[in-house]
Amino acid sequence: MIIKNVRILGGDPRDIRVRDGVIAEIGDNLEADGQVIDGAGAIALPGLVDLHTHLREPGREDAETVQTGTQSAARGGYTAVHAMANTMPVADTAGVVEQVWRLGQEFGHCDVQPVGAVTVGLEGRQLAELGAMADSAARVRVFSDDGRCVDDAVLMRRALEYVKAFDGVVAQHAQEPKLTAGAQMNEGVISGRLGLAGWPAVAEEAIIARDCLLAAHVGSRLHVCHVSTAGSVEIIRWAKSKGWNVTAEVTPHHLLLTDELVERSPNGAYNPIYKVNPPLRTREDVEALRAALADGTIDIVATDHAPHPVEDKETEWAAAAMGMVGLETALSVVQEAMVDTGLLDWAGVAERMSAMPAHIGRLAGHGRPLAAGSPANITLYDPAARTQVDPSAFASKSRNTPYEGMTLPGRVLATFLRGKPTVLEGKLA
Ligand SMILES: [Zn+2]
Repeated sequence: MIIKNVRILGGDPRDIRVRDGVIAEIGDNLEADGQVIDGAGAIALPGLVDLHTHLREPGREDAETVQTGTQSAARGGYTAVHAMANTMPVADTAGVVEQVWRLGQEFGHCDVQPVGAVTVGLEGRQLAELGAMADSAARVRVFSDDGRCVDDAVLMRRALEYVKAFDGVVAQHAQEPKLTAGAQMNEGVISGRLGLAGWPAVAEEAIIARDCLLAAHVGSRLHVCHVSTAGSVEIIRWAKSKGWNVTAEVTPHHLLLTDELVERSPNGAYNPIYKVNPPLRTREDVEALRAALADGTIDIVATDHAPHPVEDKETEWAAAAMGMVGLETALSVVQEAMVDTGLLDWAGVAERMSAMPAHIGRLAGHGRPLAAGSPANITLYDPAARTQVDPSAFASKSRNTPYEGMTLPGRVLATFLRGKPTVLEGKLA
């Protein structure tokens, strides 16, 4: 197969020859020896990798399944996702992570790499079987209680020590629970005006600071999920300046949206579509997060794709579930926040949405440069397109996007997983 006329990382037009799922050759005017796909001058990126996806299966198949979640991923240009552990049952044993891994093998439109829970039942009391999950067929390397924080410092220390044996990483959802009891939105001027319980920045920053110190103390790898405040950025910058092994992610929505939407949005105040954890923060936070992603303090973009059925979102604010879907809009939001603002070029996007997330998750076979010998995991993207976000067109089973009706730049034209198209002409292949 030949993919003609694509601009690798936004460079000059080239052709890519794919053979047996691998990039065989990159050149000009390559002679066709089989199927020809017209790239039409699209940008070619290495297949995107998400370190933070909620696929909801097993247990909440009404919100998402491995099949619909990976279809959503493919539509967004992803060739691999890490499936978070807060399923029902929780992915805290070799048995459950192998079940998720097998579902991915059978129904996945991209590769599915299970994340293992840090503690049994995400309850924060007792370490889960980290070693058994690492040794299982799923070969788990990322461990997280995401949705909850491992707030016990002794357990967190033990988890960090434990994962060293198999080059694992603990991905922390940094949220001091007592400081955020009943929290509904970012603590600030707007939460005060709206009378909603605040989620203060310090509840995130205190845990990140503690965990950086713990990771340094035991010489282990820490990954910080969904960084949302300017203060968190400063702490991570400091930890990295010490040479500590700390990585961090930011979500697309924290790069674009602010807590002002809770008070004033196209559809009024208190719209739970903007309810998310950690919450949307201030303009100053958004600016700091963009700068940190640009300068490498924050290593990657991760979606925190969190599907919820309509009945859990379209209710009063206090009762609504926290979370937003994100896989199908991530690249467009990153273009809007980072590329069209001149903060990142396409090589920088590829580094932060493919190479680095694959590296942090130890996913061999993903995030490799588009060059001869690499697996043919390729995303074709048209940055000149403009798309009005229509949730009813999503492949995801859920519709809880904060971008409904917004016009975002760019469109994923095609996604290839080891040479096999999962998306062609913007549609599932
Ligand atoms: Zn989380």
